[in-house]
Amino acid sequence: MPVQRYAVIGHPVAHSLSPRIHAAFARQTGIALEYIAIDAAPEDFDAALAAFAAEGGVGANITLPHKAHAAQICSHLSEAAQRAGAANTLIRTATGWHGDNTDGIGLIRDLTDRHGLDLRARRTLLIGAGGVAKGVAPALLDAGIGDLFIVNRTPERADALADALAQPGRVHPRYLDDVGSLGNFDLVINATSATRDGVLPSLPVNLIAPRGAAVDLSYGEAAVAFLAWGRSARAHDCIDGLGMLVEQAAESFLRWHKVRPETDAVYAMLRDRDAVLVSA
Ligand code: NDP
Repeated sequence: MPVQRYAVIGHPVAHSLSPRIHAAFARQTGIALEYIAIDAAPEDFDAALAAFAAEGGVGANITLPHKAHAAQICSHLSEAAQRAGAANTLIRTATGWHGDNTDGIGLIRDLTDRHGLDLRARRTLLIGAGGVAKGVAPALLDAGIGDLFIVNRTPERADALADALAQPGRVHPRYLDDVGSLGNFDLVINATSATRDGVLPSLPVNLIAPRGAAVDLSYGEAAVAFLAWGRSARAHDCIDGLGMLVEQAAESFLRWHKVRPETDAVYAMLRDRDAVLVSA
């Protein structure tokens, strides 16, 4: 049987851990596959995906900045991808690409299964209203959190995300600069890309309720500043996005291969590598 071909498509993509994660899942499950990284600028995305399909590609992960566009070119979308308006997982079918979004379920699995958080009724602050925020917000609501406040530097994007979630009594969009007037939260999630540039939005240290959690969807160096803030705010749990990355990959693997890989060993392998990177 020919080896099945998979890829992650992004721009830039050289830093992506997805090829290592999927290679580890393949070894663990005994599934023969090839998984490569394809760097495609936005204007080259459609041609890159078509060339990948012509070479036998049957599944792709999609990362920055292509997730919203990928959803638009799919012939079918899962409910998660429809709600997010973005696809991070493509599955080739006889009639075109099927798009799914595993970011939300990846975050929920990491927080509940790996870190043992009970999300129910947690008053939650989501900082950011970009692509990943659109994927995780519906999943957080489905997981039973309490009120969800969404703050964003560009307030119109927080408004648009809240409108799309369509739960006006429970979801409250606000301007990022007003974050100090919102009280405290059981769960504070950084879904901005600000800390990738070493810029942490200004956040008060009384933002986290007793026994609350600070979660950064970034990982490695990009998560250092927010997690340091979380410790200074006395968060009970300070969690970065590495576990979410592994869990969303496992969910993609499940959709492609109908087998859910075990994630703890892969997470531990990457955490060791991450520790080296962060301390280097
Ligand atoms: P987008 O570019 O779609 O959105 C970026 C968000 O960050 C917007 O809300 C933007 O606000 C905000 N932002 C950017 N710079 C600043 C700043 N200086 N101050 C305040 N807000 C700022 O990116 P994504 O949503 O796709 O990704 C966000 C982060 O999540 C990235 O760091 C990425 O690595 C991480 N991620 C992690 C995943 C995982 O599996 N762990 C999966 C996917 C993403 P505005 O609207 O005002 O521009």
